[in-house]
Amino acid sequence: MSNLFTARKSTEVIVIHCAATTPTQDIGVKEIRSWHRKRGFTDIGYHYVIRRDGYIEEGRPEHVVGAHAKGFNRHSLAICMVGGVDEDLEPEDNFTRQQYATLENLLNELKVSYPGVDILGHCDLPRVAKACPSFSVRKWLRSLESGSVKPAPSIAYVTITPKLNTIWALAKYYGYNPQVMVDLNSELDPAKLQVGQKIKVPNF
Ligand SMILES: [Zn+2]
Repeated sequence: MSNLFTARKSTEVIVIHCAATTPTQDIGVKEIRSWHRKRGFTDIGYHYVIRRDGYIEEGRPEHVVGAHAKGFNRHSLAICMVGGVDEDLEPEDNFTRQQYATLENLLNELKVSYPGVDILGHCDLPRVAKACPSFSVRKWLRSLESGSVKPAPSIAYVTITPKLNTIWALAKYYGYNPQVMVDLNSELDPAKLQVGQKIKVPNF
């Protein structure tokens, strides 16, 4: 399978896309992969997909050339936010707080892997006559820098107890997505939690 892909030699841009789905369409990599394969792509065109609940799914391997922005695929990485159109299929910024929080975290990690990388919306690329990703990536990034919009979610803490002693038990008890919790606590080994230890949780 992997020999169908081409390794990417450089990563100059991270391109943000949307799936152009309605807010009630709870889809992810599986669905987008089948749409893209029907269009004749080798695999899903994006490297990461952020679902409605903020869960990240991996699409095409991060180090290979994607299929998402004509003329830019060889030097860029693609993230797709699920959502982005209203019930009439018109562009709409209807992404969830969890999605924006996950996007921010993912970009922070990718900026470490690819120092100096540019972050743009699909529509910011030259000669793209699309509304994708249905929000202004530039404005959103500026708002994060200036703090004019509180980055969501803020972080709260819960304590490991003898009964709630795994990420999964805590996630179930507090109603969080376990993957979001694992990502928030990426410095911890989820298999080695100790009673009394404090764990980060999203504070919506
Ligand atoms: Zn796009």
